[in-house]
Amino acid sequence: MTSEQYDLVVVGAGIVGLAHAFHARERGLTVAVVEQNDRVLGASIRNFGHACVTAQSGPALDYARAGREHWIRLAGAAGFGLRESGTWCVARSDDELAIMTEFARSRGDEQVRLLDRKRFLAQVPVADAVGGMHLPGDLQVDPRAAAPAIASWLEHRRGADFHWRTAVLGIEPGRVRTSRGTVTARHIVVAVNHDVDRLFPELSAELLRCRLHMLRATVALPRPLPGPLFTGWSLLRYSGFTGTERLRARLEREYPAEVAADLHLMVTPQADGTLIVGDTHIREVSESPFQSEHGFAMLLDHTRELFGGTDIEVVERWQGVYSSARGREFLIAEPAPGVRVVTVTTGIGMTTGLGLAAAVIDGIAPVSPNS
Ligand SMILES: Cc1cc2nc3c(=O)[nH]c(=O)nc-3n(C[C@H](O)[C@H](O)[C@H](O)COP(=O)(O)OP(=O)(O)OC[C@H]3O[C@@H](n4cnc5c(N)ncnc54)[C@H](O)[C@@H]3O)c2cc1C
Repeated sequence: MTSEQYDLVVVGAGIVGLAHAFHARERGLTVAVVEQNDRVLGASIRNFGHACVTAQSGPALDYARAGREHWIRLAGAAGFGLRESGTWCVARSDDELAIMTEFARSRGDEQVRLLDRKRFLAQVPVADAVGGMHLPGDLQVDPRAAAPAIASWLEHRRGADFHWRTAVLGIEPGRVRTSRGTVTARHIVVAVNHDVDRLFPELSAELLRCRLHMLRATVALPRPLPGPLFTGWSLLRYSGFTGTERLRARLEREYPAEVAADLHLMVTPQADGTLIVGDTHIREVSESPFQSEHGFAMLLDHTRELFGGTDIEVVERWQGVYSSARGREFLIAEPAPGVRVVTVTTGIGMTTGLGLAAAVIDGIAPVSPNS
């Protein structure tokens, strides 16, 4: 372990930690990243790769909008796939369409394009719809490639020091104690996702691990999906959508097993033609490793219904995990001088992480008005 004193040590090489390292290097700070695994392996490669900017509200929307510009720049600089396709959202019932209509009214045509049945079905290969919307400001990145490419670019092109296979054991002001020795820094950012409860249990009493069923499949479609696809289930998930109580009550009545599994049916097309399909949500203190086949069967049944009884060949299944806190989207704390804990406590870290980190680094090294 180096004896150098850094301006910033980041713990965790997921998108949130990498985002802090990126903004700190942009401002000329010396940076080290300490990661227990030998590569990026956490939630940041297990997700849909969906920057769902438009569906956020409040601080998450501000972070998402700021993050959008950084994603576009980083995709070019670090070299990973990014599509400015926007998000498509299918309405399969009048109550879903009513929520989208209200959302379109409140946000305006530039952000939300409401589509009637004919126009939606002409663009999106779902079996049927009563209408839908397109959110043109949303992005999609390659979830397997994006965070690893950013890490590699920061390490090999931007002068950040990476300490892989190095576990952080304890943190105190100015000092990070690791399995390979101690590293010192003026500032420390802890971005370890759900494992924050191991390093800072006093901050994490309300945090749970949320585990998700995910799969990647070849799906026989009449034509390609033009971008990430939301369904009515998505309307219950994101804080930007309002007036969802009646829809929630109907889904609870008609789909009790799906509501119990906290199903969120969404699909993102991948560059190789496969689709990522997810997801379910089970919240526990420590995540069980055992994934019920019931969860995967539910995803597959709903995908068949969405696309019209089509052939599906599953290529991969996996479990994703992120931290979850009821009623809050971020845990940002300074438990000791110069030590900042930054955790996204719901499934929006790819969308918000780059913008959130810019705001945190502003508190450490404000951008000079002349730069
Ligand atoms: C299935 C799934 C789908 C999702 N879909 C989306 C989506 O489409 N859009 C979106 O915006 N968000 C999505 N999310 C959420 C998003 O992926 C997360 O919010 C985000 O990746 C969190 O980033 P992170 O850097 O905090 O965590 P992680 O990527 O989990 O990184 C944390 C890192 O900290 C390391 N670490 C932990 N403890 C230590 C220690 N003691 N010492 C050293 N290193 C340590 C871990 O090894 C890990 O590499 C999804 C999440 C999942 C699981």
